[in-house]
This record gives sequence, structure tokens and C-alpha cells, in this order.
Amino acid sequence: MQAIDCSRRVSKLRDFLLQGQGAAAPGILDLCLTCGTCAGGCPVTGVDGLDVRKAVRMVLLGLDQELVDSRFPWICTLCGRCEHACPMQIELLKMLRAARTLRERDKVPGVMHKGVMTCLKTGNNVGIPKEDFLALMEDVGNELAEELPGFKVPLDQKGARILVTINSKEPFAEPEDMFFWWRIFYAAKESWTTTSDNWEGVNWGLFTGDDASMKEIVGRIVENYKKLECEYLLLPE
Ligand code: SF4
Ligand code: SF4
Repeated sequence: MQAIDCSRRVSKLRDFLLQGQGAAAPGILDLCLTCGTCAGGCPVTGVDGLDVRKAVRMVLLGLDQELVDSRFPWICTLCGRCEHACPMQIELLKMLRAARTLRERDKVPGVMHKGVMTCLKTGNNVGIPKEDFLALMEDVGNELAEELPGFKVPLDQKGARILVTINSKEPFAEPEDMFFWWRIFYAAKESWTTTSDNWEGVNWGLFTGDDASMKEIVGRIVENYKKLECEYLLLPE
């Protein structure tokens, strides 16, 4: 009779976590009790036949590539309920995000990776050219000034109290959505500014597990923040 091989299977994802990559957790996946508490409160349990408890098992059994290739880590909303409920305090969010990190970039679902690349190149996820953005800020500022006398969109104002970043979907498709904040600032006589470059406030590097790009995009915002000597930073999402 052939002996059963109980040695640990190779798991790239587990090693990735153990090496401390991807802001990673220690190897506490091994502590999983398979109790299922995590999966019980998860809004996407059962989608494609998977759940977060099974995901932990897959990593531990060396089936990590199957998890990386599955839709589950991307269907997961990263809401954190599973991790909050886990009696062993296993860092499930880090595991799920690491599965995204290990996905080949050309296989990242949807437009998110393309958006990250566009942001690195142009300063925003949808590639709005600077001159179009500046023209739009002037136009929408003039429109709002009809309601709020003297209103103007403050751009690159050194010493403003709040640096406001922008979700690119607003200038791209729903510019009036920016008015909500702007009306509040106006009523509060708030000192604020946004910037003419690198104003994107939605970092898709976070969602795609792309730490290097995420860091670069955050760094650009920090650079604006320091250059303009602001006190607070407002992110739209
Ligand atoms: S709740 Fe924690 S211990 Fe229980 S199955 Fe999920 S990961 Fe394992
Ligand atoms: S973080 Fe993901 S896996 Fe965990 S409960 Fe939320 S959707 Fe489910």
C-alpha cells in the first residue's frame, strides 16, 4: 500500500503572505477551525460555488492558483464582515487581496487595470486631458456662480485648508455631483482647493491589488498636499 503524502503542498499565495508582501498577514491561515462563521455572514457566499472558508482551504491545500484564477476574490466586496466575525482573527482581507495581486495584470477583470495605467499616465482614471479638465472647471464654476454669487473653483491654491480630490467619473459624466460638496464649502466659507494635475481621488491600485501603482498614485496626492501646504485631505470615496 502506498503511504499517504501529508507534506505541505506548495502554495504561492500562502508564501506570498508569509514573506510579508502585499501588506501581508502572518501565516495564521493555519489556525482556521473551518467553523464557517466567516462564510455565514458573507454576502457573496455560494457565488460560483465558493465561499471564504473554502478560499482559506484552497490556499492551505496548495490550490491557490485555482483561487487566483477564480472570480471569487473579485466578487468579494472587501467589506470585512468575514474577518470581523472570525474567532481566530484570521486576516482574510489580506488573503483575498493577495489573490487579486497574484492575478496576471492582463487578466484583471473589467477596466480597472486599464484605469490604473491611465491614471499613472494622465493623472486620472479615465484619461481626461488637463486642458479639458481646466475648461470644465471653469464652465461648471460659472454655472454654480449663477446660484452662489462669486463662486469659482479654486485650483492649486497654496495655503488652502482642505485639499479636495475628485472622482473622475464626476468630471467625465456627472459634473453636477461635484456641486454637493462645493455648496457646503461655500455655505461654510471653507478654505479649499483642488489641483490641476493628479486630482484623481479613486485609487484603483487598491482594488486591483497593485501596491506599486497604488503607492505612486498616493504619493502624487501627498506631493500636491505638501506643495500646497494644506491641513486636511478629502477623498471622495
Ligand atoms: S471564521 Fe475563521 S476560523 Fe472559522 S472558518 Fe472562517 S477563517 Fe476559519
Ligand atoms: S470581505 Fe469578501 S469574503 Fe469577506 S464577508 Fe465581505 S464579501 Fe464576503
